[in-house]
Amino acid sequence: MSKDYKIKSLQEVQRENVRKNNQKKSEIKVVGYILLTVVVLLVSSIFFISLGKKQCLLKVGKNEIGYVENNNVAMDIIAKTKKQIEQESGTEIKIIEQPSIDLVKTGKKADKEEKLIKGLKDKMKYNIKAYTLIIDGKALGCLSKSDEINQVLNEIKNKYDSKKSVVDFVGNSSNLKLWFKENVEIENNYVNKDKIAKVKDMVAILSEVGANTEVYVVKEGDIMSKILEKYDSITLNDIKKMNEGFNPDKLSIGQKINISSAKLLLSVITREEKTYEEVIPKAEEIKKNEEKPTTYREVIKEGKQGKKKIKLNIIKVNGVEEGKEVISEDILVEPVTEVIEIGTKKLAERSYPGIFAMPTIGEITSRFGELRDGHTHQGIDIANDEGTSIYSVGTGKVLTVGYDAGGYGNYVKITHSNGYETLYGHLSKIMVSEGDSVTKKDKIGLMGNTGRSTGSHLHLEVIKNEKKLNPLNYVR
Ligand SMILES: [Zn+2]
Repeated sequence: MSKDYKIKSLQEVQRENVRKNNQKKSEIKVVGYILLTVVVLLVSSIFFISLGKKQCLLKVGKNEIGYVENNNVAMDIIAKTKKQIEQESGTEIKIIEQPSIDLVKTGKKADKEEKLIKGLKDKMKYNIKAYTLIIDGKALGCLSKSDEINQVLNEIKNKYDSKKSVVDFVGNSSNLKLWFKENVEIENNYVNKDKIAKVKDMVAILSEVGANTEVYVVKEGDIMSKILEKYDSITLNDIKKMNEGFNPDKLSIGQKINISSAKLLLSVITREEKTYEEVIPKAEEIKKNEEKPTTYREVIKEGKQGKKKIKLNIIKVNGVEEGKEVISEDILVEPVTEVIEIGTKKLAERSYPGIFAMPTIGEITSRFGELRDGHTHQGIDIANDEGTSIYSVGTGKVLTVGYDAGGYGNYVKITHSNGYETLYGHLSKIMVSEGDSVTKKDKIGLMGNTGRSTGSHLHLEVIKNEKKLNPLNYVR
């Protein structure tokens, strides 16, 4: 308290109060302003923060997949999706259309990973790494796994391969030619997943007999056999079946012929090793002997067959043998050469052997030149039952038929074109007439006992230039 306490005037007090009041008011204002500023700053900073935050929108083409926090997360999700697809399909994939990441400003929360992966799997475009089977340059189909390709090719191969061994065709494709006649290639590339075939469908395609239809247009100078030469497995019958009313002898230039060739797409070549024993025939060595007649043939040294063991590959195409490859030949038993002596001397007497046939069957009871009752026998006698058939010994003409009571009895004389004549005596019946033409073995009569004869027999004579010859040199 001040000692010189001064009594203030009312006005003074009033003024002072106003001043004090004003001072208080302004203090309140300042606090208010500060508060306001803080609020404004806070609100605006929240506003600006939220306004400045960007999100990533993952898209495949025009398809929106979802929101992710940032680029790195987006890349991670794409990579995860790729991995999942690869695990599920069991093969690598190649994304054709990369998903796009757009930066957007929204207040939305990021989507869950599962949802994003599912969306990507659904919309993302990718190719699958596959094995394409190419036969003679023609793509036949794709399989996604190498063991599937192996399975298909082994299945086809084993239809004809008794060994049924499993071949790794993919890893060992240089071996392919051993098994297939066609040029088989396996191409590893990325294809649309819709193009991936199933093992059983591929096997079915390869097992099917494909009918290739081709049209051949006839050119000038064509003949059917030449046209057929152009096609391995086509026969004239196949062509006739394919072309109604087809006449191979009437081809016209420009004519169209349907050629159908039914063949399997893959021809399986198999090599089967076989071992067997084979006989080696004995060789013959001929020694000529001029002293011995031509009918002489005598083994001087006995020969013997040999034996060998042959090992070979039998090459089959679709089960049909097409060739052999000899691997080895081992002689087990050596053959022994047989030595044979043959005669070379020709018998002059028998200059016409066998020109005539035997006139009948029976026993020769008397030969030519035998002495009988003071005269020589001019023919031969062949005895058999009465009624036995008598034939002409050769072609000719009946010269005479007659009856000679004191000699031949009923007889037939035939003249042959080579100047010979034959006579048949003692017949019981004559069955030809003079002038009849006869050929060898024509029946001319029956055996009998007529004329000067003491039992049923045929008396046969061979005559040339009126000279009687020994019939046994002429009949066989
Ligand atoms: Zn006689």
